[in-house]
Amino acid sequence: MISQNSSNAALPFTLIDLTHTLFPEIPSWNGTCGFHSEIKLDYEDCSTDVKFRVQQLKLHAGVGTHMDAPAHCIKGGLTIDEIPLMELAAPSIVIDVSTKAHETYQVTPSDILSFENKFGVLPPHAFVMIYTGWDRFWQDPEKYRNNLVFPSVSGETAQLLLERNIRGLGIDTLSPDCPQNGFPVHQLLLGNGKYIVENIQNAQKMPPQGGYSLALPIKTQGGTEAPMRLVGLLFKKEITDAIEKMNTSMYEKERESNLTKASQLVRKSSMIINSEFSEIEEDPKS
Ligand SMILES: [Zn+2]
Repeated sequence: MISQNSSNAALPFTLIDLTHTLFPEIPSWNGTCGFHSEIKLDYEDCSTDVKFRVQQLKLHAGVGTHMDAPAHCIKGGLTIDEIPLMELAAPSIVIDVSTKAHETYQVTPSDILSFENKFGVLPPHAFVMIYTGWDRFWQDPEKYRNNLVFPSVSGETAQLLLERNIRGLGIDTLSPDCPQNGFPVHQLLLGNGKYIVENIQNAQKMPPQGGYSLALPIKTQGGTEAPMRLVGLLFKKEITDAIEKMNTSMYEKERESNLTKASQLVRKSSMIINSEFSEIEEDPKS
């Protein structure tokens, strides 16, 4: 097998894969994920000189790490293909509730407020990931599904996140809503044009703030949900250092320009990344 050079030394950022791999046995909302990959033509049956393996996929739209578009529960809401690309890239926030997230735990507004006490108010247009630690059960589908009892998010919390004007909400469970609570988070977020990402993995490898996320669902026409690749980006130390240098040489005199404000923001994020996350090792499995 020819292996590709997996080094991303040429890139100014490190990539974190926040996506589960799809296969038929993965956990799902209704118990069977519907994922099916069939080989339609295999190498040995191929009549051409160059041999191919051709596959056909069948799957439910809301399978694995996937996105819910507003249209998922809002008639006339944006569908997957209508979400502007710009909205799919965002500064990322990770709120870690894993030390207290038992199976019926609901993320409360005070979880958000205590995060903000530590790191400052959530920036607008952020993609907020809730890390409950529930993804540790992914390999045990019955436990992960747990009869649809798993850590979730309260409606009041969704309301607060809307006030912070987030771009989207993600979680490492089947849903930010459990059926027994109704679906307030879906209704509030999707009803206000935000997107939801379910079944995230590796959120704990991202810093609380200072990272970025790229949420890339398969672009299906009229799609209300779609499987996706969710990617975290962390800018490298040498780049953030260069930005820092540029900031000091170019903006010695304090100017109240938008550029100065922007550079201050970048500097703040760089310091956090540099101090806490410059040593992140890339996961060989991801
Ligand atoms: Zn959903």
